Amino acid sequence: MEDAKKSAGFLPPFRHFATQAIHVGQEPEQWKSMAVVPPISLSTTFKQQAPGQHSGFEYSRCGNPTRDCMEKAVAVLDGAKYCLSYASGLAATVNIAHLLKAGDTIVCTDDVYGGTNRYFQRIASEMGLKTVFVDCTKLDRLEAAITPETKLVWIETPTNPMMKCIDIQECAQIVHKHKGVILAVDNTFMSAYFQRPLSLGADICMYSATKYMNGHSDVVMGLVSVNDDDLHKRLRFLQYSLGAVPSPFDCYLCNRGLKTLPIRMKQHFHNALTVARYLESDPRVKKVIFPGLPSHPQYELMKRQCTGCPGMISFYMKGNLEHASKFLKSLKLFALAESLGGYESLAEHPAIMTHASVPKADREALGISDTFIRLSVGLEDSEDLLEDLDQALKAAVPDYRIRN
Ligand SMILES: *Cc1c(COP(=O)(O)O)cnc(C)c1O
Repeated sequence: MEDAKKSAGFLPPFRHFATQAIHVGQEPEQWKSMAVVPPISLSTTFKQQAPGQHSGFEYSRCGNPTRDCMEKAVAVLDGAKYCLSYASGLAATVNIAHLLKAGDTIVCTDDVYGGTNRYFQRIASEMGLKTVFVDCTKLDRLEAAITPETKLVWIETPTNPMMKCIDIQECAQIVHKHKGVILAVDNTFMSAYFQRPLSLGADICMYSATKYMNGHSDVVMGLVSVNDDDLHKRLRFLQYSLGAVPSPFDCYLCNRGLKTLPIRMKQHFHNALTVARYLESDPRVKKVIFPGLPSHPQYELMKRQCTGCPGMISFYMKGNLEHASKFLKSLKLFALAESLGGYESLAEHPAIMTHASVPKADREALGISDTFIRLSVGLEDSEDLLEDLDQALKAAVPDYRIRN
């Protein structure tokens, strides 16, 4: 009841989601043993009846039974026809970039994951792909950036760490005015449970499954979902030709993580909302950025576009770098660590940690200052999380009347 009230206004959950997460692709009938839990299939090669006559599996880089049942589940959860998996989120990004050829241009939203930025700017550029960065929350800027050379538009929503939210439907309309341009959405922060980019008009939905999709901070993996048959064929060819595929054991773990995705995401939302409200009311905190709060500039868009919000919160403390550093050192339950989306709560300092590679001037232009903190709110009891934040804030800023 309480939860229903708190998430009021967001889209209703996708129908059958929890059932599909548990059953699709997992049918015991596909295994000779009738195993209810999909076995980890470690074999690199599969016996053929006659040359070229096989079970559907030949060599594990090209297809593997454990990977196959995970990909089937993810496809359905994304409302997609196909899913492809990779050895990491970045490997998925590299595979998508290989759809392009030298001379093509990528239009990318400015506040994008650091590794994506680094790959486009420093590696793809050396292979002849040019990337133009624009703030895609401003749709006229996106429109103006698209040229005849543009072949891929890359967005992330909400962005990391500024939590800027982009209207996927509007972007798709602009992008698809230009024939042959692909719109890819990095859906890592939202997971399939909160946002379905393909139903909003995107061509590619991409994840670092290292985060919420697996959700247990024990697998590095990438996922890509698509509906278009031709796009799927090209990506499947790239998947086995480039070879950055996940191991069967990682597929087993991620497939297992998917089973609890709905209940995990609901609890992340509940805990994050509780923490965000608490931080917003604390005199030691200057500003909270959480897309599930009415104070967020794109709150209305989020309610139209998503079924809820994940556990990611950014905020500015009062004081200076020393105060922020003391706060992070004083936390007992929140671990001071990079990454996000696991069951455990994490806190980090973007300017020094995840976004240190972004030049200081660019960081400041984005708003990543010395007192800027990012939280990944986990699944612990929310009262314990509040207590931890409270003691750390008090230790860091003893005088809450501090100015700035
Ligand atoms: C972590 C992350 C990636 C990169 O994924 P890896 O699995 O670490 O390679 C891409 N996008 C976002 C938004 C991320 O958080």
